[in-house]
Amino acid sequence: MQPTEFNGLTLALSKGRIFKETLPLLKAAGIELLEDPDKSRKLIFATTNDKVRVLILRASDVPTYVEHGAADFGVAGKDVLLEYGAKHVYELLDLQIAKCKLMTAGIKVANLPERRLRVATKYVNVARAYFASQGKQVDIIKLYGSMELAPLVGLGDLIVDVVDTGNTLRANGLEPLEHICDVSSRLIVNQVSYKRKFALLEPILQSFEASVG
Ligand code: AMP
Repeated sequence: MQPTEFNGLTLALSKGRIFKETLPLLKAAGIELLEDPDKSRKLIFATTNDKVRVLILRASDVPTYVEHGAADFGVAGKDVLLEYGAKHVYELLDLQIAKCKLMTAGIKVANLPERRLRVATKYVNVARAYFASQGKQVDIIKLYGSMELAPLVGLGDLIVDVVDTGNTLRANGLEPLEHICDVSSRLIVNQVSYKRKFALLEPILQSFEASVG
């Protein structure tokens, strides 16, 4: 099968908080999805603007689609951009949505052992860079989710994860420890699309900018 021919703009989004909090920005730009992705198994969605379609992806895949031009622009968390890198994309706007923090966390009241610490996380690059910046050598254990579980069953002394209210940590007997950085979602644009499709992109970028203030 050939890739579908589409001359408009393809926007890459991920489900969950980013999707929900991007919807009002899209609406203000005159773009509404014709179907609810939560009620559909589709991955490509048409919108009320026939020049804009939306891809629903895994959050960590958004920069890859935009980098390769499979999507012209996308919304990605700063955590994802820091962890997976995003070469050849412009990070144009801090959308100030899906805000949280990257933090270390561990078992409440547990004293950390003197030996080299083990850190369980899906953010292996962020964690390595953070502990190196603190002059600490750590062993990183790569996980893909449910990081809060790891220290409870002895898989690592600490985790590195995104934290919003901290309720998930507390519900699992963990406490937030060190603040690594603040996270919010960014609008990223493919560099070639930015030049070739500027006329289509410009009004949307301006509307997003106006919404963010
Ligand atoms: P919390 O409010 O700290 O209990 O966060 C609830 C869960 O949502 C945690 O498991 C976090 O990993 C996740 N989370 C919180 N904020 C974000 C965000 N902006 N993007 C992605 N995941 C998030």
